[in-house]
Order: sequence, then C-alpha cells, then structure tokens
Amino acid sequence: MSEDRSQFTLIIAPNASSRVRRFQIDYKLLYITCGAIAIVALLVILAIVRLARHEALNLEYLSAKAENERLKRENDAYQNSYSKLKGQISYIQDMSQELARKANMEEAREIDQQPGIGGPETITSLDRAADTLERDLRRISDRLRDNQLRIASIPTGLPVNGYVTDNFGIRHNPFSGEGRENHEGLDIAVDFGTPVTATADGIVIWAAPHGGYGNAVVIYHSNGITTRYGHLSKITVEAGQRVRRGDQVGNVGSTGRSTGPHVHYEVRENDQPVDPQRYIGPPRP
Ligand SMILES: [Zn+2]
Repeated sequence: MSEDRSQFTLIIAPNASSRVRRFQIDYKLLYITCGAIAIVALLVILAIVRLARHEALNLEYLSAKAENERLKRENDAYQNSYSKLKGQISYIQDMSQELARKANMEEAREIDQQPGIGGPETITSLDRAADTLERDLRRISDRLRDNQLRIASIPTGLPVNGYVTDNFGIRHNPFSGEGRENHEGLDIAVDFGTPVTATADGIVIWAAPHGGYGNAVVIYHSNGITTRYGHLSKITVEAGQRVRRGDQVGNVGSTGRSTGPHVHYEVRENDQPVDPQRYIGPPRP
C-alpha cells in the first residue's frame, strides 16, 4: 500500500473486542475546516465585543440622560426659588420707597433711583439688591426714630381739658379792667385740683413759685421750645426731671396773679412767647 502523504488516518477502537475503525482524512480538508472554524470563532468574538460595546454605550447614555433630567429638575427648582426671591425683594423695595416717602426723606429720591433687579439673572444681582435694601431700610428706620423723637418733643394739645377764657395777645387788664396788657399765653379755666399734664416730652427746668405765675413749671423740649404751666395749687415734678407727653406736672390752682382756678399755659420759642394755638393741632413732622 503506497503511502499517501496528503491524508492521515484516524483509527478508532471503541473497545478491545470490537472492530477497529479507520478514517482517512484529507489534510487539505482538515486545514479548510480548521480555518473556517477559526474564522467563525473570530467573527463570533468580534460580534460579542461589538455587542458589549454597544451595551456599554447604551448604559452610559441612559445614565447621562438620567443625570441630565436630574440637573434639569434642579435647575427648574433653582429658577423657581430665584423668581420667588426676586419678587419678594422687588416687593420690599416698593415698600421701602413708600416708607421713605412717608418718612419725608429727601433720600426717597435717592432710594427711588436705586437700580432695580434687572440685568443678568444672577444671584449676585439679587445679593446686591438685598444689600442696598438693608442699607435703605436702616436709614429709613433711623429717620423714623428721629421723627418720632422730634414729634414727641413738639407741644401738642392742652395741659388740661377746659375752657380757654383768655387767648394769646393784647387784652384788657383782667384786674383793674382799665388799660391793656399783653397776655403771653392761654388761660384755661377748669376745676381746682385737676391734674395738669405736660404737652410734650422734655426736661423740667423750673418747678417752683415764679412771681405772677404763682407755682409754675417750665419744661424744655427741643429746638429752643419751652412750655410754662402757671397758677398751680401743687407741683408734682422736680427741676431736672425728664417727662413724657401726658405726664402730670401739678394740679390746677389759683396761685400768683390769678382771679380763679385756671392754668396759664405758655409756649416759647427761644424764650419768645408764641401763640399756643399754633401748637394745639397734631404735631408737624
Ligand atoms: Zn394767663
């Protein structure tokens, strides 16, 4: 039997007693088969790799999409908060302008001119607006406190609730009935002993008998304004004492140059008597 090198023989013996089987396989066929198997295996591996890469990309895409949605939600929430804050600041700005006008502030104009919250929609612009607002409100608050103090120290109303029997100015002499004299205040007739109250905040600078005034109290307020309360039966304050509007300073009497129980009430500006009627109405800010 000639040797054929293009083939090799495969001998299979299933067990010791059975027949031996021989298979003759062509080398070429073997190589082709092996090659085909290798190519198929390679293609399968490539396909798996591609599929895996595709899946990985897909997963990456899904996660990026979820992240994007989360950021969008956060951004929406931020925009909402921003708009709300902007609205609130704008509202407070309006109120501060209104307050400034009510406080008769020259700065109201300045406050009016402050830049609104326009421009780029950034937290920085809100921050700046809030800072300006804080400064404005502080200024308005100071001004209101000043106004309040000023108003409290301006005489208002009358020291007793009674009848004005004599006005400020030239009058007939109430004692002799002859000739004329200058009356430097108001005479207010009221029951003996009625409490007499300060018409504004101030400091008592006199609390003792004082010539024709009889028992008198003088209060210094501010800006050179003083008030005098005369003919008292009793003085209930001391010189140097601080009083508030409405505090009792004494009781109605008829001491000094007086014809019956009444309060002689005077208002002086830089020690010059002025008509107290000018100070009876509501205080001017
Ligand atoms: Zn008088």
